[in-house]
Amino acid sequence: MKELGYTEVLPPTTQFLPAKVAQPPKDAIKTFSHTKRVGNYLLGKTLGEGSFAKVKEALHVPTGEKVAIKVIDKKRAKADSYVRKNLRREGKLLQMVRHPNVVKLLEIMETENSYYLVTELCQGGDFMDYICKKKKLDEKEGKKYVRQIVSAVDYLHRLGILHRDLKIENLLLDSNKDIKIIDFGLSNSIKVSMGTDGTIHPQEFCVTQCGSPAYAAPELLSHQKYGPQVDVWSM
Ligand code: ADP
Ligand code: MG
Repeated sequence: MKELGYTEVLPPTTQFLPAKVAQPPKDAIKTFSHTKRVGNYLLGKTLGEGSFAKVKEALHVPTGEKVAIKVIDKKRAKADSYVRKNLRREGKLLQMVRHPNVVKLLEIMETENSYYLVTELCQGGDFMDYICKKKKLDEKEGKKYVRQIVSAVDYLHRLGILHRDLKIENLLLDSNKDIKIIDFGLSNSIKVSMGTDGTIHPQEFCVTQCGSPAYAAPELLSHQKYGPQVDVWSM
């Protein structure tokens, strides 16, 4: 224990953590500019904003790790019947998934006025900004990103999860410049079965018209029942 720099004053649960985690960088906490504290997190600058939610950068005080927190205003959400009904669905679906190209959920918190989804922070920024800066991606890089997106969406569909809002704004990059799919605010899950050849067969269908018109599949726009194929159209 001694050679790792641990001291006996640490509480028992932190004794087996790496030194960096067991003794969070005090400077990182001191210099992190924040407006409020929720649970173990200091809430910092706003990373993005929608109609019902704000996404904030935050610092996990016990470890000094930076995360992203989607803060959903329950009062504002109540005004929209769909959002009110499905407030907790984004968290429930994210709890089911673990894939390298889907944002990782770390914790869910709830207070009287807000619902908080704590996820890993995508340090590489918006995928759109990355492409704009580069003007275009070469074929090799394009292939890499298409593979990552297809791999993540195939994974979701095998679990019966339809994202339903796939668009470039909901693709971010991590610090390794790999894709992270975010925003399961409009997602839903259905029963699926698997064919012997590995194909996915929906046993249920959705009817709710949602997502962004520019990315929406024809069957969704024409009020027909639909399945996972709508995500394939959006991709
Ligand atoms: P909305 O449902 O309002 O569209 P999103 O979940 O899509 O909310 O998040 C809104 C914006 O916040 C994103 O477009 C992105 O710029 C930023 N954002 C969301 N999650 C993260 C994250 N994990 N890391 C960094 N930025 C994020
Ligand atoms: Mg979004």
